[in-house]
Amino acid sequence: MPDAQRPEPVLPDPRNAGILVYVNGAIVPREEACVSVFDSVVQAGDAVWEGLRVYDGKVAELEAHLDRLFDSAHALAFQEVPSREVVRQALFDTLRANGMRDGVHIRLTLTRGKKVTSGMNPKWNQYGPTLIILPEWKPPIYRDRRLRLITSSIRRNNPQCLDSKIHHSNLINNILAKIEANHAGADGAIMLDLNGFVSEVNGTNLFIVRRGEVITPHADSCLPGITRGLVLRLARADGIPAVERNVSMTEVYTADEVFATGTEGELAPVEEVDGRRIRGVEDRPITRRLQQRYAEWVRTHGTPIPE
Ligand code: PMP
Repeated sequence: MPDAQRPEPVLPDPRNAGILVYVNGAIVPREEACVSVFDSVVQAGDAVWEGLRVYDGKVAELEAHLDRLFDSAHALAFQEVPSREVVRQALFDTLRANGMRDGVHIRLTLTRGKKVTSGMNPKWNQYGPTLIILPEWKPPIYRDRRLRLITSSIRRNNPQCLDSKIHHSNLINNILAKIEANHAGADGAIMLDLNGFVSEVNGTNLFIVRRGEVITPHADSCLPGITRGLVLRLARADGIPAVERNVSMTEVYTADEVFATGTEGELAPVEEVDGRRIRGVEDRPITRRLQQRYAEWVRTHGTPIPE
């Protein structure tokens, strides 16, 4: 159906109708923010990305996100990658142009760039990468919402197939898992690794708490999430034992507490997995404590947006 005949779309947050988006040096209204049909992200999902959050005039964990972005681009052998300073400046310029200082999520994407002809071969990339900075009003929503999860039939890649340490935009496995969650009326789907251990949820990392210990899977087949890393550090600093090890679904069902982590949703308590109720979900003392520590950290430790 042509766009003109469609009913007016309903945005999750109506304030986002007026946002400005950065695309390769230009900061333009969302309707004008476009990439070429020849762009690598259109041709084969050939791009890397980061999701960041702004709290109280500060970008949380900015340098960690930039490290992962540049590592991912280097691993994919992107050429002519913009400097760290250019990316940082573009991010600040875009936030300032939007007057955004709190309750904001930023989707930052770096594609291999426009090609001279359609196809997958990076040889056809002769324009340099495309940098997109898409900030939206998106206050965290999961602090008190309890998630219901299922286990997906789709496995998360391990380094034999595609290393999950590259934060690429080729996330079809995870989208298929999310479709399964949608069909089951669940909030998300746990993806297993090739050995049947837990990898992560389709768009977040997973933690369990057992007898006072915080446990999350090795980052062999999951994204080494920035929130995941921070939660491990905050737990240890607070005297809570925190380990990375293989986790089976039985351990998830029988955990005292379960929570998912990610920049967008912070720490989100899990109430039910595959129909099993998480027994400590009402009190969830360790989840609450870590949510508190996380909220304190991101409000005080971010990189300030220059005036
Ligand atoms: N897993 C996947 C698949 C993700 O896309 C994300 C979001 N980037 C996460 C986990 C959470 O990562 P982070 O804590 O760095 O936001």
